[in-house]
Order: sequence, then C-alpha cells, then structure tokens
Amino acid sequence: MTPKDALRRHLKARWEAGETTLFTARDPGARPRPKPAAPPPPAAAPAGLHPSGLLDPGASERGRGLLAQYDAIKDCVKCPLGATRTRFVFGTGNPQAELLFVGEAPGEQEDRQGLPFVGPAGQLLTRMLGEHGIRREDVFICNVLKCRPPNNRPPAEEEIAQCSPYLEEQIKRVGPKLIVALGRFAAQTLLRSDKPVGQLRGRWYPLHGAELRATYHPSAILRNPNNRAILDEDLKIVKEQLARLHA
Ligand code: URA
Repeated sequence: MTPKDALRRHLKARWEAGETTLFTARDPGARPRPKPAAPPPPAAAPAGLHPSGLLDPGASERGRGLLAQYDAIKDCVKCPLGATRTRFVFGTGNPQAELLFVGEAPGEQEDRQGLPFVGPAGQLLTRMLGEHGIRREDVFICNVLKCRPPNNRPPAEEEIAQCSPYLEEQIKRVGPKLIVALGRFAAQTLLRSDKPVGQLRGRWYPLHGAELRATYHPSAILRNPNNRAILDEDLKIVKEQLARLHA
C-alpha cells in the first residue's frame, strides 16, 4: 500500500465514523457528506399563499386579523380530530373577499396540503367558479371543521359545536357581502336549521351583515352529475347578486 493509499484509507475510516472536521475548505478534495434523509416536510403552500392559506395577510387589517386568529387556533386540540389530523385547514383566499364559501370539512388532500377544496370536489368547484367568472384568488374559502374527520366520515355534532365558533369569527373578520354555504353541514350550521339543503336553497338569508345562500356541495355532483345544474344555477344567481351590489 502506498502512503497515499494509506492516507486515503485512514481518512475514509474517519469520514465513515462521522468525523467531518478534516473535510473543510482547507481540504479542496473533500466532498460534502450526504445529509441523512429528513422526514418529508408538509406540502408547501402554493406561491403567494401564506402557510395559513391566506393571500398576502400582511397587506390589510382584515388579513392581519385573520392571521392573528390563525395563530391563536392552529394548534387546536379541543376535539379528538386535533390528534388525528395531518394539518389544520384554516381557510384560503382573499382576506377582504366580498364572497365567502363554506364547505364541510377537509378531505384527504386538504388534510395533506393544509388548504381547503384542493381535492376532486375542490377542483370541480374551482372549475365551476371559473365558468361563472369567479376567480378563486378573489374569494375566501373555508370549512365548518378545520380538521379532517378520519376516513371522511360526516362531522360529529360535538366537533361542529367546538369548531363552528372559529367559522363565525372568520366570517366576521372577512366581512363578506355574500356567503355561499356548500352542502348540508355548512347550511345547517350557519342557518341553525335541520332542514335538508334542498329546502334551504332558493333564497337569501341575512347573516353577520351579509346575505347567505345555501346550495349543493360539489361532491354531490361528483356522486351524481345531474346535480350540476343546481349548483350552476345558484352560482349564476350569486354572480348576478355580486354585480348588483356593485351597480
Ligand atoms: N369538502 C369540503 O367540504 N371541504 C373541503 O375542503 C374539501 C372537500
């Protein structure tokens, strides 16, 4: 073995033992030791979104208020869903939105990404909003529950009771002109009713200084495409009402 080989073997043994001080800038031949694999981080929020889901929250008083609320509740463990969620799903979009959508609860994708309505039902909603000239980044979207029920089971009464004050506070902080309750849980929670959504839809209700309309949840359309015409009709009415408020 040549002295060079001996030195190489010696250095290799120390390197493999975890010693790195010999492999600094003073040793131009040294390669950085590969880092041990880190656990995968939670999915990053899309560009422009604060990790809370809020768009540019620092830019407005409402955004700062919502961010303060997010910071106060993001580690909530008031109900057992706090222990089973991957991520807390606060809500997303424009903190100063005139139009606010409320869904039921995060699903699998939402739980993974920390953002509401990003899975199949959310993608359908985004497409349908686009067809009515409503951009996702102009509205605010949140859910009755901020954490995913295991296996997407329906929210339990106790979970709604614990979580709905967060929703009410969010609505007051955003101060929208119009609210759309998507599906039974959002409609019944916000209207304090036990009627089916088919009976609640079709009129405006006053709520927190806004007007609320109840309609079908996009997942009802995924289950039965015949329901699409109903959500379409309601989104058309919402868009017209928005235009009327600006006239
Ligand atoms: N369904 C909902 O009600 N909310 C989501 O965020 C996703 C699916």
